[in-house]
Amino acid sequence: MKYVKGYECSLCHKFFPIQEELFTCPDCGEKGILDIIYDYEAMKKEVTKEYFLKNSEKSMWRYHLLMSVNEELLEKTLKVGNTPLYTSFNLASIINVKTLYIKDEGLNPTQSLKDRASAVAVIKAMEKNQTTLACSSTGNAASSLAGNAARMGLNTVIFVPKRAPVGKLTQLLYYGATVIKVDGDYKDAFQLSKLAINHYKWYNRNAAINPHLVEGKKTVAFEIAEQLQFKPTDWVVVSVGDGCTIAGVYKGFYDLFRLGLIDKIPKLLGVQSEGCSPFVEAYESGLPLAEAEELTIADSIAVGIPRNPIKAINAVKLSLGSWMKVSDKLILDSMVLLGKTEGIFAEPAAAASLAGLIQARKQNVITKEDSVTIIVTGNGLKDTQNALKAIQEPPTLKPNLSELINYLKTRGENDE
Ligand SMILES: *Cc1c(COP(=O)(O)O)cnc(C)c1O
Ligand SMILES: [Zn+2]
Repeated sequence: MKYVKGYECSLCHKFFPIQEELFTCPDCGEKGILDIIYDYEAMKKEVTKEYFLKNSEKSMWRYHLLMSVNEELLEKTLKVGNTPLYTSFNLASIINVKTLYIKDEGLNPTQSLKDRASAVAVIKAMEKNQTTLACSSTGNAASSLAGNAARMGLNTVIFVPKRAPVGKLTQLLYYGATVIKVDGDYKDAFQLSKLAINHYKWYNRNAAINPHLVEGKKTVAFEIAEQLQFKPTDWVVVSVGDGCTIAGVYKGFYDLFRLGLIDKIPKLLGVQSEGCSPFVEAYESGLPLAEAEELTIADSIAVGIPRNPIKAINAVKLSLGSWMKVSDKLILDSMVLLGKTEGIFAEPAAAASLAGLIQARKQNVITKEDSVTIIVTGNGLKDTQNALKAIQEPPTLKPNLSELINYLKTRGENDE
């Protein structure tokens, strides 16, 4: 916290000191999403490669000096972060890229990258002595907030759209949240949560509006960079809904660049599903972002009105990256591939990053010589109903050896 200077509006670029406790820009209103600004020159003196070598904290709080949280409360939280970065052997050769890394965010405490934002939300609420937190979510932000809040003895009120997958819904009920299931889509859930948060003065965990949350999400980029000895790959591939995740990934690499810890910021590939791709449409047409339908199995990125458009568009633009849309079919195929070749079970929105990479290779937006990191943002067990669409359920056999031998023959297995 000591290196935080203040907020800057991503729209009008006006600066506000941190003491003001703002959510969005007082001049621009809701579209004026704020960015937290740091004193990099001062931070540089303390946050060096040496500092990380000596740092024994393994969770995301390892990076608290580069964040906007107070140090005192961090010890009690769930252990978020420190997820593995795998070097791919099998998948890389199948999709024809020389160097591929897979960041498995499904291994966070509530099984998605959202924990990095929720951990911060919980701390910020406690700093303000607030005991109830609220958000609207397609699922993961909800279960993540509920879990992280439960750990700290706080209450949560969660607004979910009607279509929220049962795995995610079940999870957040077990964390003791008050669940408001809204008869409508994500846009409707978001709208109602906004009215309710205003009315009840709950702490707002809607990630786009709350500038501290992207600061949590950026720790995934810090980890990737450290895991690669501060030599990140040419590309990092991220699936995009509201745009907070990709904005966080950019901010993380930007911080490290400003601190002189990395030489270049990776190009970011933002991936959306064809059934809901407002960012890709805007990128390809050159027109302003337009509201889209939410027609995809990748529920976590089914966001018809993205809430963090400026930061997300800037992240791709400033990193010299690109946008890609993929079919649900390719997303499901990518889930199968990830499971079969790397032992990672991803939810659809998480496998969308692999689908985006496959598509980008096809169009040669990413070349064979490029090194690539894909971020797998959430675990496949969260939505087994959709996952079952991509595989065949096995037949039930009599407990009898000859029946087994016959069955395995049909699978190409010989009994010698
Ligand atoms: C939320 C989420 C995303 C997208 O993050 P945004 O900030 O909405 O762009 C991608 N994958 C998973 C699994 C998510 O939960
Ligand atoms: Zn402004």
